[in-house]
Amino acid sequence: MLTNPLSSTFSKPSLWDECLLKIREKIGPSHFETWFQTTDLALKADGCACIEVPNQFFADFIEQHFSAFIQEALAGMHVSFSKINFVPTTKNWKIIQPITQSLEESTQRAIPNTIEKKGQFHPNYIFDNFVVGDTNRMAHAAAMAVAEAPGKTSFNPLIIYGGTGLGKTHLLQAIGHFAQREHTADSVFYMTSEEFVNQYIGYVIDKKDSTSFYKKFSGVDLLLIDDVQFFSGKPGTQKEFYRIFNRLFLENKQIVLSSDRPPAKIPDMMHHIINRFLSGLITDIQPPNLEVRMAILRQKAEMDGLSLPENVVRYLASSITSNIRELEGTLIKLIASSSFTGQDITLQITQEIFGDVMARKKQRLSIACIVEKVAQKFDISPNQITAHSRKRDVTLPRNIAMYLCKKWTRQSLYTIGLDFGGRDYSTVIHASKKIEADSRVSAELQQTLKEIEADLQAITAG
Ligand code: ADP
Ligand code: MG
Repeated sequence: MLTNPLSSTFSKPSLWDECLLKIREKIGPSHFETWFQTTDLALKADGCACIEVPNQFFADFIEQHFSAFIQEALAGMHVSFSKINFVPTTKNWKIIQPITQSLEESTQRAIPNTIEKKGQFHPNYIFDNFVVGDTNRMAHAAAMAVAEAPGKTSFNPLIIYGGTGLGKTHLLQAIGHFAQREHTADSVFYMTSEEFVNQYIGYVIDKKDSTSFYKKFSGVDLLLIDDVQFFSGKPGTQKEFYRIFNRLFLENKQIVLSSDRPPAKIPDMMHHIINRFLSGLITDIQPPNLEVRMAILRQKAEMDGLSLPENVVRYLASSITSNIRELEGTLIKLIASSSFTGQDITLQITQEIFGDVMARKKQRLSIACIVEKVAQKFDISPNQITAHSRKRDVTLPRNIAMYLCKKWTRQSLYTIGLDFGGRDYSTVIHASKKIEADSRVSAELQQTLKEIEADLQAITAG
């Protein structure tokens, strides 16, 4: 039975001290020291409790991230208040460790991941706000399918991979949002793999309590883990993840993961995890084409109540070619400067604001840069590509590099030939034709080109 503390036998200091002990147990010593050392409990006659904290930042943070723990600790002591307020006070707090130093780290690591915590999804990351085009159609369709029927399609696990800023987090969160709103899954759990690693460290390494960590995931119907490439080279985390993954998978629970590269290309990842990944659906998101970029800009402008002239939309969408996050950033800058100057947004104003930046970006793609990217892809040195050697194993990367230089730079065939160990321009033509012809019949070559070109696009987009 819950009681009002004023009528209970607790004296004030022991109530809060006991509560603090329980909180400390839950959140671990470092977060506890950062957030709770400088707190106190004051009871009000109206049945409310005031938790006194050093400033408003503490009040907001503790309320947002730890109030559930406080309530739970109090409930465990059979205590309830009609209300708990977090109040900044100017007490002479004795701060034992410098708070500012660990603030950033603890902000990242302290956020407890209670299952189905409220507000775990960004309100804008929903299917309705996701612009669908050729480059993300498949990923979007698969995401919709699992959101509508988690665990009931053959897309389990569903893995969405693609470069940065292309909408992976948006889709994962949209799935979670949808499943919660439409009740297609009772228990939805989204976390980044970084959070997973931190929690693994907190529970399994620090507290030696792998059971509690494992139990966190029991009863989850839909598990969404973002950026699993972060598990690379972390065998302990991988082992625990594999255990959780298997259990959910056997219970037909839906698992959705994202990665910045194809799973098979995540280095230092246990092969049985990769095999598990391969048993579901792996789908990629490619950098958006012009049409999609323009649609995204229109949509974002509309959401901000801004009417953007079509020529401005085209100019921005043509200049920023890969990363959607950057497209958004450009729009925000444009809105800010237009509201600052009070002028309507025109093409001329846009070019004045961004002209220099765009010009610099275009220049960045040089022959050397392309050679370097191709070399990286084939794990050889750039010199091997440009040297005058006839070894067979570098013919393919060299031909690819020449083909890409012809396609992506404004350099003449003559200059390209020169940069490739003084070869004749006809060699560049021959290499390009060969790659064009071979890529029509080889899916593997097509994929290789696609991946390198995605990298090149990312460079031109900054
Ligand atoms: P990633 O996780 O792949 O790095 P995000 O999901 O964080 O990328 O996307 C970056 C930004 O671009 C987000 O604000 C997201 O809403 C937006 N975005 C990405 N793809 C789309 C899309 N197809 N339609 C609308 N907005 C998009
Ligand atoms: Mg992301």
